[in-house]
Amino acid sequence: MEPKDNKKTKILLQSSDNIVITCHKGPDGDAIGSTLALYLYLKKQQKNVQVIVPDDFPLFLKWLPESEHILIYDTNKQQADALINNADLIFTLDFNALHRTGEMQEPLSKANAKFIMIDHHQQPDDYAEVTYSDTSICSTCQMVYHFIDALGDINTIDTDIASCIYTGIMTDTGSFRFRSTTSTTHRVIANLIDTGIDNAKIHQNVYDSNSYNRLQLLGKSLTNLKVIPELNTAYISLSAEEQSNFNAQKGDTEGVVNYALSLQNIKLAAIFKEDQNNGLIKISLRSKGDFSVNEFSRAHFNGGGHTNAAGGVSKLSLKDTLDKFISILPSYKKELS
Ligand code: 5GP
Ligand code: MN
Repeated sequence: MEPKDNKKTKILLQSSDNIVITCHKGPDGDAIGSTLALYLYLKKQQKNVQVIVPDDFPLFLKWLPESEHILIYDTNKQQADALINNADLIFTLDFNALHRTGEMQEPLSKANAKFIMIDHHQQPDDYAEVTYSDTSICSTCQMVYHFIDALGDINTIDTDIASCIYTGIMTDTGSFRFRSTTSTTHRVIANLIDTGIDNAKIHQNVYDSNSYNRLQLLGKSLTNLKVIPELNTAYISLSAEEQSNFNAQKGDTEGVVNYALSLQNIKLAAIFKEDQNNGLIKISLRSKGDFSVNEFSRAHFNGGGHTNAAGGVSKLSLKDTLDKFISILPSYKKELS
C-alpha cells in the first residue's frame, strides 16, 4: 500500500465507527478468509463491524473463526440494507467492480459510506476512496496481511486472524503452487505459522471434507471431460440435472476445472455449469503460460479475473454456450499452439 493511501486509510478508520466488509458473489476461500481476517482485526480496534456476503459460502469454510456471524445478503436483505445504509466505511474485498456483488450492487452504489478496496484482480473500477489494488499478489488474504502491517499492527495478528489469512492464501495459490506464489508469500506464511496456527488442520478442513456425492459428481465431471487436442484445450460441462443427481452443494465443483488443466499439453481449461435458478451458465476458465483467460472472458463471456484464472457467464443454453466456446477457439489457434 502506498504511503498516501496509508495516511488516508488511518484517517478513514479514525472517523468511522460503523464498518461493513463485503466480497464477491459465490464467495471462495480468499473472499471469506480476507473478510473474516479484516473483521477480526477491526473488532480488536473496537470498531462496530459486520461482514455481509452476497450469497452463501461452501461448507468447507464454515469452520473459520466467527464465520457464523457472517450475514448473507440473499436471505437477510432488510437487515443488510440497514447496515449498509448506516455504514461510515465499506471495505470491498476480493473484487473490483460493484456488479460482482449481484443484488448487493444497488444498496452499495446508493450508500453514503466511503469505500476502501483491497483486491488483486485486473482492471479495477474507480469507486473507492482508497484503492489498494495489486494484481501481482496471489490473494486478497496476503494483501490484508500487508494492509495490517502497513497500519503498524502486525502484532495484532493472532491465531484466529492468521488462520483466516492462511486459508485464503492456500486456496488462491492452489496450495502454494501457482505462479503467483512468491518468496514474500512464503515469508508471510512462515509468520502466520509462527502465531501458532494448525496449518495441517486447515488443509484437512478445506480439502478433506468431501461428501460421497461430491466425489461421485467429480466422477461425472471427469466422464464429461472433452479434449480439443489441436487447440490444447480441455473442457467439462455439467447440466443442472447432472448436478442435482448428486445433490450438488455450494463449492462441490470448486477445483474441478484443475483436472482438465492437469492433462498433458493443455493450455486452456474450462468448466461450464448450468445454473437453472439464475437462468445462466457459470463458467470457470484456467490457463497455463501467457494465454489470458481474463481477456478471453471479458471478450466473450462477460467476465474477468486474472491471467490464468477467470470466470464468466452465458445467458445461452448449455449446448449453445458450448457451441459458442468451440466456435471461438480457432481464432486463438496461434496463442494456444
Ligand atoms: P472461479 O472460476 O474460481 O469462480 O474464479 C476465478 C477467478 O475469476 C476468481 O478470481 C474470481 O473472482 C474471478 N471471477 C469468477 N467469475 C467471474 C465473473 O463472472 N466476472 C469477473 N469479473 N470475475 C470473475
Ligand atoms: Mn482472490
